[in-house]
Amino acid sequence: MNVIQQNAQFANEPGDLGAFSKGLYIDGDWRPSATGAVIAVVDPSTGATLASVPDATLDDAAAAVEAAARAAEGWRTTAPRKRSEILRRCFELMIERSEMLATLISLENGKALRDARGEVAYAAEFFRWNAEEAVRISGEFGISPAGTNRIVVDYQPIGICVLVTPWNFPAAMATRKIAPALAAGCTVILKPASETPLTAYALAALYEEAGVPPGVVNVITTSSPGPVTAAMLADPRVRKLSFTGSTGVGRTLLAEAAKHVISCSMELGGNAPFIVFDDADLEEALDGAMIAKMRNAGEACTAANRIYVQSGIHDAFAEGLSRRMAALKVGAGREAATECGPMITRKAVDKIDRLVKDATDRGARILCGGTVPDGAGFFYLPTVLADVPPDAEMAREEIFGPVAPLSRFETESEAIARANDTEYGLAAYIYTGDVGRGLRVASRVEAGMIGLNRGLVSDPAAPFGGVKQSGLGREGGQHHGIAEFMEAKYIAVDF
Ligand code: NAP
Repeated sequence: MNVIQQNAQFANEPGDLGAFSKGLYIDGDWRPSATGAVIAVVDPSTGATLASVPDATLDDAAAAVEAAARAAEGWRTTAPRKRSEILRRCFELMIERSEMLATLISLENGKALRDARGEVAYAAEFFRWNAEEAVRISGEFGISPAGTNRIVVDYQPIGICVLVTPWNFPAAMATRKIAPALAAGCTVILKPASETPLTAYALAALYEEAGVPPGVVNVITTSSPGPVTAAMLADPRVRKLSFTGSTGVGRTLLAEAAKHVISCSMELGGNAPFIVFDDADLEEALDGAMIAKMRNAGEACTAANRIYVQSGIHDAFAEGLSRRMAALKVGAGREAATECGPMITRKAVDKIDRLVKDATDRGARILCGGTVPDGAGFFYLPTVLADVPPDAEMAREEIFGPVAPLSRFETESEAIARANDTEYGLAAYIYTGDVGRGLRVASRVEAGMIGLNRGLVSDPAAPFGGVKQSGLGREGGQHHGIAEFMEAKYIAVDF
């Protein structure tokens, strides 16, 4: 019986989390780190320690790469139909265990259960989608312009992949990489975030149960992500780095990967504009803003970070948004009524507080919230700020919390210029009653993803990713996600 089966009854109580942290997952085996050191996992709603996980060393990382290398040939030659069926089984098991997984995510990340349930459904969908893609990988066949030979293009698994993921979507950021990598025929080492490792280990046990062979997926946690990742990238058998996290760490990893000319996919930070034109449906724009801002309590790379509202609708929008934000129930994620959970760490709360103080010092007005509540845990009250000036730090930096900064604008060109005034380019949102204008503005806003009259863009069937310093490459979508884990091989054929 594996850890998932042992915990199938795990309901809304923390239960025995030790079962989710019994070792590094290497070569289908659970083992302590080479030194026996551990990393504490903290409940952000109380600050108390929930569990501890092994702290991997360079030797452990080498063992994980070795295991992935040993499994590589068997997995790349496994029939696509068989790979597809295993991925499909991963999807089914995730759906069967969704309540347990959502509770676990909610415990270690702090997010509201309703958000955690949404994440599990989204994360599982990457397995279903890639199970369908695994049997549709095709090549190309053509004739050379000179007529001398045929051109055959074969798509092959790129090789061993190192996957590094953040804490804000502990399940989905991992499955968005693992599922296409496995569909393509690659073996992987996942390094999840230190704050939320339990979900990654729970999923590893689930993959094993679904039939993923030993060594195909390896999971290691470490408090030294820089040296451990660098050591894995230095192994010549590693050919891919797929990273989701901050732009700063992404830059460091791109430099590290450059030393070995390793293919990189980078899903980095965001600073999404949310533009509301006068002709937008007010209630729909408010619904969309609440989703775009408050999914995951604002701890999302796609979160609306700058809300630009045209003058004619501004005051009604500000009033409606403040009413909705102030009414949100703040509490521990695992409590059924909670709508806004804690932030991930005290440091994250301090950053949000600093950004709000900076904005108010520069003239922004607090319409609701704006404070750190007393008591245990890492909470920040849902906040709406009006008249946030363009030079406020939060106009440039990710807030990553439940703070909605409003600014007024007059013209379409002003809205576009302000939306593009950032180094980031991940998501953007536009609300207007004129679809022609919506499409026109969408074509000029510099972002990889646009929500037009829609506050949610994430969809496994659509290519997810950013432009500018928000990243390189795409995850999900028809062929896009899987293509990141394949390499084209061209064969010139004379016959
Ligand atoms: P982070 O600090 O960049 O960490 C992300 C991952 O990188 C973690 O596993 C972390 O490990 C690891 N890491 C940290 N320093 C490293 C280094 N020098 N070398 C190798 N790995 C290193 O980001 P985060 O705070 O976890 O996540 C929030 C950020 O992720 C935000 O900027 C958000 O916008 C972005 N994000 C982007 C997307 C997207 O799809 N574009 C999706 C979600 C989140 P430790 O946990 O051990 O430090």
